[in-house]
Amino acid sequence: MKRIVFCDFDGTITVKETFVAVLKHFAPQLSAQLIPQIYARKLTLREGVRQILESISSSCYPEILEFSRGETIRPGFTELLDFLEAKQVPLVVISGGLRGMVEVVLGKLVQRVHAIHAVDIDTTNEYLQVKSEFEGGTELVAKVQVMEKYSAEEKIAIGDSLTDLNMALATPIVFARDALAQYLQQHQKPYIPWQDFFEVRDYLASLWNSAHEQPNP
Ligand SMILES: [Mg+2]
Repeated sequence: MKRIVFCDFDGTITVKETFVAVLKHFAPQLSAQLIPQIYARKLTLREGVRQILESISSSCYPEILEFSRGETIRPGFTELLDFLEAKQVPLVVISGGLRGMVEVVLGKLVQRVHAIHAVDIDTTNEYLQVKSEFEGGTELVAKVQVMEKYSAEEKIAIGDSLTDLNMALATPIVFARDALAQYLQQHQKPYIPWQDFFEVRDYLASLWNSAHEQPNP
């Protein structure tokens, strides 16, 4: 594989951060207690998110999926998929949120992404149970671990927040907005600022066009 794009979901593909809103809505007390600790990096995402999710009754799961229905997708996402398809570059969604939520929001676009890696939920017991294939380090979904599953000459990451930091630090070409941009500045890691997927598409188009004109070493 020559090129591959890894894309976060919450606050990246979606305009709003749905997952945090879900945690706050369905587990208000525990969220109020733990989320600030996660942002302050005193508690890992892995521990904090698991604790919050596993405090929610399984009977809430359909309502959780319903909660994310109608979430707005950031402009240009379909056009980015069109462009990547034409260039035969796969886009892999890596989300620290719930797979069910990603699928509800993407709808028919699910078929157009190469893969979705996210948290799976088991609802057979009284409380939600977290099943994450790539749990590791500080993350419930260790995005770098997912990325390593794919070999490609050129890896590109798109993200917006702390949950994308490790992925961004491990990727040569990073599109960062919002908090992720600030974290990357602190780490002195170069990134491309972006607001919508049209900008991502246009940047990649010119990057790959100019790369094409250079002779192979
Ligand atoms: Mg995000």
